[in-house]
Amino acid sequence: MPDELLDRLRRFHDDAFPQYREQFQTLVDEGQHPTTLFIGCSDSRLVPYLLTGAGPGELFLVRNVGAFIPPYDGSHGHHGTTAAIEFAVLNLHVHRIVVCGHSHCGAIKAMYGEVSPEAPNLNRWLDLGREALLPVQPGPEVLRRTEQRAVVLQLERLMEYPMVRSRVQAGQISLHGWHYVIEEGEVHVFDVKTGGFVPASLADNSGTGPYHPYVEHDGQVLLDAL
Ligand SMILES: [Zn+2]
Repeated sequence: MPDELLDRLRRFHDDAFPQYREQFQTLVDEGQHPTTLFIGCSDSRLVPYLLTGAGPGELFLVRNVGAFIPPYDGSHGHHGTTAAIEFAVLNLHVHRIVVCGHSHCGAIKAMYGEVSPEAPNLNRWLDLGREALLPVQPGPEVLRRTEQRAVVLQLERLMEYPMVRSRVQAGQISLHGWHYVIEEGEVHVFDVKTGGFVPASLADNSGTGPYHPYVEHDGQVLLDAL
């Protein structure tokens, strides 16, 4: 039986990798210094590298069902997403944290229905989005609003992480709540001032605000004073 995946691995090594060899060597020699923690849904149609144009070494990625953030509850369990947030903030000193949900999200839809008794972990995990549910029958518009509300809910939970909160308040980390509309190829950005999502084509920045841009001053790049 042909092993298509093995063929792809070989093609990557032989055809694609040579163009990146130097870049990866530098990333090995100097270590990784990604500036963005990207927490996205596991959905196969959400492709962070395509969306952001990022290359190797630029995104520290965490993906899970629904792009959910567990509560910072002191339980110190095997919480992969929580561990990644701690590592990205404390070890990698990322400047941005993106939480990216998307249209047609299976996790959001699943919250409106019954979860199989064979999936108790999935059922428990979905609890992290249930506060975003609307008390109506889910149609396309309700699902979209729920997807967006879930992103905001995760940002709020992220702000309960002490190491995140202190850095956001100090202007060292910006939060970015995104809802990616697959069929339009456009991210809608949560704007904390209006409480709504703005298409990237109309937004004035990619963050939720209050936004503190870098400014050029006498040739030096400075962080705008708070
Ligand atoms: Zn999803």
